[in-house]
Amino acid sequence: MNSIQNLEHSRSDQAETIITKTTCPYCGVGCGVDVTVNHKAQGTTVQVAGDFEHPSNFGRLCIKGSNLADTLGLETRVLHPMFGRKNHRKVTTWDAAIEKIADQFQACIDQHGRDSVAFYVSGQLLTEDYYVVNKFVKGYLGTANIDTNSRLCMSSAVAAHKRAFRALS
Ligand code: SF4
Repeated sequence: MNSIQNLEHSRSDQAETIITKTTCPYCGVGCGVDVTVNHKAQGTTVQVAGDFEHPSNFGRLCIKGSNLADTLGLETRVLHPMFGRKNHRKVTTWDAAIEKIADQFQACIDQHGRDSVAFYVSGQLLTEDYYVVNKFVKGYLGTANIDTNSRLCMSSAVAAHKRAFRALS
């Protein structure tokens, strides 16, 4: 079942508005958001607001969720694997990129041992993804050096709140 619901869909000759209920993808709180997409002759705009009916947030969003609309679009995204740095990057294939990464991990392990490699992975993985990457790192590579940004995701916000409001830990 598709968990994303179209809340409202209105259309005229010049404009179309679609409001969709969905979930903020940034952290495990899972705040509900209403995404309003306006297609007009002048272009498309997107607005994101907290879902007042959602039990996780009742309409409220933190700074990351409130700025979700600014993150949409492909213009600044890396869409292909690339070799090289800064202005010398070249697009390559997934097979070539994976082979190079595997070779460099192997060279590092051969020279310095299994604990010379470490993984710092996204906090936005699904449970199944975490299972696979943990199996790979601990079971296959044989090191316990894996952590995720789930541990640190809101730590900067917590530090800022403690400074701003003198909250006690
Ligand atoms: S707390 Fe912030 S980052 Fe987490 S789901 Fe809610 S809006 Fe998104």
